[in-house]
Amino acid sequence: MSVEQQINQLREELRQHNYSYYVLDAATISDYEFDMKLKDLQVLEEKHPEFYDANSPTLRVGGEVTKNFNTVVHEQRMYSLDNSYSKEDLLDWEIRIKKLVDGDVSYTCELKYDGASISLTYENGELIRAVTRGDGIQGDDVTTNVKTIKSVPLKLKGDYPSKFDIRGEIVLPYEGFAKMNQERIAAGEEPYANPRNTASGSLKLQDSSETAKRPLDCLLYNLAGDRLGISSQHDSLEKAREWGFKVPKESRLVTSIDGVLEFINMWDEKRRELPYETDGVVIKVNDLQQQEELGFTSKAPRWAMAYKFKAEQAITTLNEITYQVGRTGAITPVANLEPVQLAGTTVKRASLHNADQIAKLDIREEDTVFVEKGGEIIPKIVSVDFTKRDKSSIPTEYITSCPECNTELVRKEGEAQHYCPNVNGCPPQIIGRIQHYISRKALDIEGLGGETVALLVKEGLITNYADLYDLKKEQVIPLERMAEKSADNLIEGIAKSKEIPFERVLFGLGIRYVGETVAKKLVKHYKSIESIIAATEEELVNVDEIGIKIAQSVREFFDTEDNRRLVNRLLQYGVQLQISADKLADQTDTLKGQTFVVSGVFEKVSRNELKKLIEDNSGKVSSSISSKTTYVVAGANMGPSKLEKANKLGITIISEDDFLNLIG
Ligand code: AMP
Ligand code: ZN
Repeated sequence: MSVEQQINQLREELRQHNYSYYVLDAATISDYEFDMKLKDLQVLEEKHPEFYDANSPTLRVGGEVTKNFNTVVHEQRMYSLDNSYSKEDLLDWEIRIKKLVDGDVSYTCELKYDGASISLTYENGELIRAVTRGDGIQGDDVTTNVKTIKSVPLKLKGDYPSKFDIRGEIVLPYEGFAKMNQERIAAGEEPYANPRNTASGSLKLQDSSETAKRPLDCLLYNLAGDRLGISSQHDSLEKAREWGFKVPKESRLVTSIDGVLEFINMWDEKRRELPYETDGVVIKVNDLQQQEELGFTSKAPRWAMAYKFKAEQAITTLNEITYQVGRTGAITPVANLEPVQLAGTTVKRASLHNADQIAKLDIREEDTVFVEKGGEIIPKIVSVDFTKRDKSSIPTEYITSCPECNTELVRKEGEAQHYCPNVNGCPPQIIGRIQHYISRKALDIEGLGGETVALLVKEGLITNYADLYDLKKEQVIPLERMAEKSADNLIEGIAKSKEIPFERVLFGLGIRYVGETVAKKLVKHYKSIESIIAATEEELVNVDEIGIKIAQSVREFFDTEDNRRLVNRLLQYGVQLQISADKLADQTDTLKGQTFVVSGVFEKVSRNELKKLIEDNSGKVSSSISSKTTYVVAGANMGPSKLEKANKLGITIISEDDFLNLIG
C-alpha cells in the first residue's frame, strides 16, 4: 500500500469511528486504539505534508489561533422564530396558515435546543465554513473552532448535494458543563452561569485547542438553500442524518395541532431525561412547497413556530440567608429554603450570587420566593411574592464582616463579590488553599484527603501547604481515624509530591485566575519560579494568552511577603519549581522577542510542528500579519491576501528552510 493509500485509509477509519461514537453514541473501538490510530496518522501526515487535508481527523485537536473572527454574510438569512405559549396561539397560527396555502397541512415537531445557532456550509461533501447567527444577516466565521467539535462531520457520506448550508445548534451537555465548572472552581475562578452562554462563548475562543477541550455537541435541524430534491422537512432531517449529521431522533411528524400538543406535553416532562438543555418545541410546516408559499415576515418564517416550555418554578419560604467563604476569600450568599420539589429534585438551597442581587430583588429572610431551575445547575430565586411579606419584615443587611473569622469584608472596585481579606487567619481559606494544593490536578498527594487537611489545620499541625513537608509520622498517628499504616502512606505521599512537575505545582499554589492552562503557559515561557517572580506586569501581559487580570493577580501573589516565604520553603524542600531538564532541552531563547506568522503548507515539518518550534525557541506565533510581525514563514499555497499584506508592510518573508536555519 502506498503512503497516500495508508493515510487515506486511516483517515477513513478514524472518521467512521468518530461518527459511531459522537453521532450514533455507539463506540466501535476503545479510546486507546483510537488514540493510537490517530497518532499513526499524525506521524504519517507530518512526514508527508503533500497529502495535507484541511478536513483530516487529526485537525480536530485544534491549535489554530484566531485574533479577529471575520464577518461573513449568510447566503440565506438566518431567521428568528415566532413564539407561542398556548393551544390557542397554535390554533390561531394554523388559521393564518390555512388562509395562505391549499390542502392539508402536516407538521414536524422538533425540540428547541438551547445553545448557539450555527450555519455550516458544505461543498462537495466537505465542511468549508461555519458561521454564527450574528444578526441573522451576517455572522462570525468560527470554522476553526467548529471543526474541533467531534459530532460535526468534516466529510459527508452518501448522496449529498454538491453545495448547501445546514443550520443547527451548538450545545454544551449538562455533564460536560458541570465538569468544566468543577475545574474552574478548583482554579479559584467563578463558575460559568449556564450551558448556553458557555457554548456560545466557546465558539469565540481565540485558541481552537481550547475549544477542542470543551465537550460541545452540534445538533442539526434545517437545510437551507435550493430544494435539493427534497420535498419535506421530515425527509430533509432523514437525509441529513444519512449524510452523517447528528440529527436528534426525537422529531415527529403529525397531522394536526392536537398531535403537536401531544408532542409538547410529552416532552415538557421527558426533556429532563435529555443530556442537554431544551427550552421548547419548534413546529414546522412539513411540506417544503407549502413553506415556500408561506415565506417569511421580516423577522421569522411564517411556516415555523416555537412553543416555549414554562421555566420550572416553585414557591417556597426562604428560611435563612447564610454566607460561604471560598478558598480565595470570596463570599457567596446562599438562600436556605423550606425544601420544595422542583424539576424532579428536592431543592433546599438556592444561589443568591452577591449583595447587589439581593438588593435588586429585595430578598429578605422569611419571604415567600419563586425559585426557578433554568439552565443553571444551582436553582435561583427569581422574585419575591411581596403580597405575602410580613409587615414587620426588614431589608436584608449584607454582612460586613466574615462569618468565619469576623474580619471586615472588602469589595474591590468593579467586582460584585465581597472578600474576606484575612488570608492567613480565616479557617476556610487556610483549609481551602491546602485542599487545592493537594488536589488531583495539582500535587495529587496520595493518602491525604480534604477532611484530613481540615483536621490537621484544626489540630494546629499545619497552617499552609509548606507545613505539610515538615509533618512527622508521630504527629499524625494520634489523629482521629489514623493508624500506623495510614500515617505512613500520608508521609510517603507528601514526600512523593516533590516529583510532581512545575506546572502542576504552580497551579497548586492557588494564584487566582491561574488555572491549569495558564500555569502551563507561564511555565513554558518562564521556565522557573524565579523568572516568574521577577516578571513585571507588562512582561506577563506579553505572554501568549495572559491578560491583564491574570498578570495583576500573579504580581499580587508574589508581591505578598508571606507567599514568597512559602515558595522559598517549597524550594528548600525540593518541590519542583522549575521546568524539568528534558523539557528544557527542547527549548531555547533563540527567537525571543520575535513574532511569526505561519502561512501555507510545508514539506519538512507540519504547520503545527512549525508553530511548536517557534514557541519552543521562545518566539511568538500570531495568526495575522501586522507591523509587529518579524517574519512570515511561507510554505506552498500561501494565501494571496497575506502575501499582499506582508509586502505592503515590508515584512520579510522566509521559507521553511530559512526558518530551520534560523533556529539551527
Ligand atoms: P429565538 O432565539 O428564541 O428567536 O429562537 C430561534 C432560535 O431557536 C433559532 O435561531 C435556533 O437557533 C433555535 N433552535 C433550536 N432548536 C431549533 C429547531 N429544532 N429548529 C429551528 N430552530 C431551532
Ligand atoms: Zn474570614
